[in-house]
Amino acid sequence: MGGGMHPRFDGTSSRRLLARLRDIMAGSGSGQDRLDKIVTLIAAEMKADVCSCYVMRAGEVLELFSTEGLNKTAVHNTRLRVGEGIVGYIAGHARPVALDNAPSHPSFAYRPETGEDPFQSLAGVPILRGSKVRGVLVIQHKDRRRYVEEEVETLQTIAMVVAELVAQSELVNPVEVTTTGDPVLLPARLSGTAMSAGLAMGLAVIHRPQLTVRQMVAEDADAELERFNTALQTMHSAIDDLLEAASLAGLSEPRDILETYRMFAEDRGWLSRIREAIRVGLTAEAAVQQVQNDTRARMSHLTDPYIRERLMDFEDLTNRLLQHLAGKTSSTDGATLPDDMILVARSMGPAELLDYDRTRLRGLLLEEGSPASHVCIVARALNIPVVQAADALNRIEPLDQLIVDGDHGQVFIRPAEDIQMAFGEAVALQHRKEQMYAEIRNLPSVTRDGVPISIQLNCGLLIDLPHLTASGAEGVGLYRTEIPFMVRASYPDVTAQTTLYSRIMDEVGHKPIVFRTLDVGGDKMLPYMTGGEEENPALGWRAVRIGLDHPSLLRQQLRALLLAAAGRPLSVMFPMIAEVAEFDGARRLLELELKRLAAQGVEPPSNLRVGTMLEVPSLLWQLPALLPKLDFLSVGSNDLTQYLFAADRGNPRTSTRYDPLSPSMLCVLRRLVDECTRHRVSLSICGEMAGRPLDAMALIGVGFRTLSMSPPSVGPVKTMLRSLDVAALRQYMSGLYTGADHSLRDKLKTFGKDHGVIF
Ligand code: PEP
Ligand code: MG
Repeated sequence: MGGGMHPRFDGTSSRRLLARLRDIMAGSGSGQDRLDKIVTLIAAEMKADVCSCYVMRAGEVLELFSTEGLNKTAVHNTRLRVGEGIVGYIAGHARPVALDNAPSHPSFAYRPETGEDPFQSLAGVPILRGSKVRGVLVIQHKDRRRYVEEEVETLQTIAMVVAELVAQSELVNPVEVTTTGDPVLLPARLSGTAMSAGLAMGLAVIHRPQLTVRQMVAEDADAELERFNTALQTMHSAIDDLLEAASLAGLSEPRDILETYRMFAEDRGWLSRIREAIRVGLTAEAAVQQVQNDTRARMSHLTDPYIRERLMDFEDLTNRLLQHLAGKTSSTDGATLPDDMILVARSMGPAELLDYDRTRLRGLLLEEGSPASHVCIVARALNIPVVQAADALNRIEPLDQLIVDGDHGQVFIRPAEDIQMAFGEAVALQHRKEQMYAEIRNLPSVTRDGVPISIQLNCGLLIDLPHLTASGAEGVGLYRTEIPFMVRASYPDVTAQTTLYSRIMDEVGHKPIVFRTLDVGGDKMLPYMTGGEEENPALGWRAVRIGLDHPSLLRQQLRALLLAAAGRPLSVMFPMIAEVAEFDGARRLLELELKRLAAQGVEPPSNLRVGTMLEVPSLLWQLPALLPKLDFLSVGSNDLTQYLFAADRGNPRTSTRYDPLSPSMLCVLRRLVDECTRHRVSLSICGEMAGRPLDAMALIGVGFRTLSMSPPSVGPVKTMLRSLDVAALRQYMSGLYTGADHSLRDKLKTFGKDHGVIF
């Protein structure tokens, strides 16, 4: 903090200020009188040198309506456009700002008539009603000071009250408001990274992450009880603050809901059960969660709507309490989910995405994430466009209209009419392309010079399987078995797994399918699996490592696969194999299960094929020992790229830093093609690059003949390969492997264009 000492503005100061605000609102006087009193009160209680209130007038102009500390003559004279100065910035972005050095802010605009030059610090909040900006409330200090959270939150609460004053037309002539229409938040465009192709329009739904309880048992019950009591108290006062804000703003409906909440939060039975669970040795978080699980189990079969609602309230309280225990406050958006929704999240796991109703999900906007993260893989499987863009959560209000452009990595917030029209045209074009893909669906998948290429699908959900017929793919090159595990509340037993796998085999019919054994860990955590936090999850305890350490888990899955296959062909693939010994270990478990089932008289698969993924570079130096043991090998280029370049695939700073179309990666891939040909092992590639037309072209040039990809990629890749002359490409690429290039993307693109390849 610059400047000297300041008496701390804390919860007590805030409550005192709000109590006095209530008196002003309950008292008499015109809207202007009351606003003046409010502004004076804020300046006094917050020890601010200035407090000013700007109100939105016709034509999106912010007019200074009241001030304590600036020249009074500026009142009703100083006007700022939305976007002009820091006040205009707050209105334009509809978000609070707290600056300890306001003149250095890029939006700072000096208005001499206000006499505000000596003020260094500024905290301001938008006056919002619904998603509309009605004005801006600011405080300023002469010296440089850092504002505390309580100060900004208190200003936000007061802004709610002022919003009511404005809305009740006590400040601005009602004719002006009605004839000019409501001032609305301005349209905006965010540019980011395209992570899943396609276009979507819908309303914003802000995703709130589920908190998972990691530590179950505590050593010191008294300390846990104290933590619990503190969290409970914080939650109570947070609810009280909300209640107070709601009554100040004269809102009756939210207040009723909040009253009910408070009643529940004080429910003796609920509290004593949680405390009892802590006394018996659970952590506060685990106790809260456990009591909730019990409540859910006891009440879930009841159909009485009142009880079901009560159950929902308890669920929400549990989440709030967990958030308070974790030291986070919740950010309810209060929105019921719209039919066309665009999820907006800081980050998200694939299971969380699948928690949402897929029939309503149109698009996804993430602040953090990368194209190879599993949430994006799942989104692509669901054909949901995804864009990653920083600052999304600050710019977007719940239920804002959004257009997600997953082809160009941009998002339009509250788009104007012309953008919406362009969106309609782009969707029509996309339909035309899809028609074109449908037309080539039953044509052979061969290159222009007659080389057959097998196109396979990457799947992980039952809903993916109809794509097999619809896309014309030859089979399923990668079935990610972990995805069904991630969407369940508990670990599926052998019977449940057998039923699922045999349904999948029924659906796939005579087409081949490769089942990859459980690949969890890294960014794919199971909700019911507590492995503890890891410093480097991608390099941690994941995939086959878990299976080898807990052989019963892997054996159960292999048993279920064998039972489901009984008499049918079965292909099993192990993920993340780093050395031949691991493959041998996994294969041994498969043999044990085969023997066990044979002893029980279960029919073995008609043809059992065993393979591995190549994702860990160490395996490249054991190929002569490995390949004779394999029926097939599939390159997981997502992980292989991440490990080859030591660049986290889930981190936007590193995920696109290196290009798989680089000499080093292509050399690795070419070597694999040579070795597999020599050992007569079938080779495929199932990482995301196989589904990108230009990358797929390079892979064919390197020598790959089987590409496995997510369903939406089939049309574009097939269009590309049918226009490709492989002989010419091979010839061209022979000169590229030894160069010093960072990326060969541009050169390959130029080759494609010059040779009439359709991308
Ligand atoms: C890969 O790593 O390329 C792959 C296909 O596996 P996953 O993306 O599921 O890790
Ligand atoms: Mg992988």
